[in-house]
Amino acid sequence: MERRDFLKRTGTAALCAAGAASLRAPAVWAGGERFAWNMVTTWPPSMSVLQTGAQRFAERVREMSGGRLQIQVYAGGELVPPMGVFDAVAGGTVQLGSGASYYWAGKVPAAQWFTSVPFGLNAQGMNSWLESGGLKLWEQIYDPFNLVPRPFGNTGMQMGGWFRKEINSVADFQGLKMRIPGLGGKVVARAGGTVVLLPAAEIFTSLERGVIDATEWVGPLHDLRMGFHKAAPYYYYPGWHEPGSCLELLINKKAYLSLPGDLQVLIDCAAMECNMRTLSEFEAGNGAALEELVEKHRVQVRRFPDSLLGTLKKLADETLEEEAAKDKTSQLVHTAFKKFKNEIRGWGAISEKAYYELIV
Ligand code: CA
Repeated sequence: MERRDFLKRTGTAALCAAGAASLRAPAVWAGGERFAWNMVTTWPPSMSVLQTGAQRFAERVREMSGGRLQIQVYAGGELVPPMGVFDAVAGGTVQLGSGASYYWAGKVPAAQWFTSVPFGLNAQGMNSWLESGGLKLWEQIYDPFNLVPRPFGNTGMQMGGWFRKEINSVADFQGLKMRIPGLGGKVVARAGGTVVLLPAAEIFTSLERGVIDATEWVGPLHDLRMGFHKAAPYYYYPGWHEPGSCLELLINKKAYLSLPGDLQVLIDCAAMECNMRTLSEFEAGNGAALEELVEKHRVQVRRFPDSLLGTLKKLADETLEEEAAKDKTSQLVHTAFKKFKNEIRGWGAISEKAYYELIV
């Protein structure tokens, strides 16, 4: 690396670490080549935390780069359809995209492991896995598509979903029509349910009219805004199917490599900031939203019975093995994920778990 590049890189890293005050002194970065990029997301225009997170990322990049890198953000459907994000970034129509990797399971089955795995890792675990080899694997898997992935937020622990009837045993999943994507949906199908995939805008009406019997979404903060409490009385936990869903930033690799080194690092830093702040926003908002659902809307919060969770866990293990066996890449990711999960299990038991049991 040339000395100039090195100075640029360390300068940007220091800038990231120094905090907001110094970010407002962009004079250092004045001059140099300017870039105007476009970013598309899978989120509706009004979606808080997720769409607003993408917009804040663009604003932070503009500020930190002193205006050298400008990003125009488009919500799902504004420039390309929500499910067209992967192709738009891979093909170079736009330089950046944001969504969740399990949306691309049809193109890249192994991508599902980088969002969330049923009975898998929580947000802290996902970030730790990505830090210790998971991200390198993700990069390798997206490389043939000319894409660079970055973790771009985490929903934290999700809720098990909204149900129009009580769920007491696995028999209650027989014939149950549920909106639930990803690997979790495959587990529900294995339990006898019928998995329905719907665009966000159609979920509430489908639940209200009984077209579906149940839906999962995210957690109290976003579920309250979706109004599901008006359509189903039972709100179950825990969200065994998505214990910490990682969101993604997709970067067109050719565009990424065309940037000067400091701007590449700057994107990485801003993505990491978005990763942390998104999780914090969900965590900060969920408590009050849950209180409102229970106190104001009289929602019945229920825990899935232990015996059912035990059965679902067994079905999840079978599902994961079966899905992993379908292609070599999924097998590779599944094996790495399992190994990491086993490695941190002992530490988790005597740290976070022990502490939560003490205080909650
Ligand atoms: Ca979900």
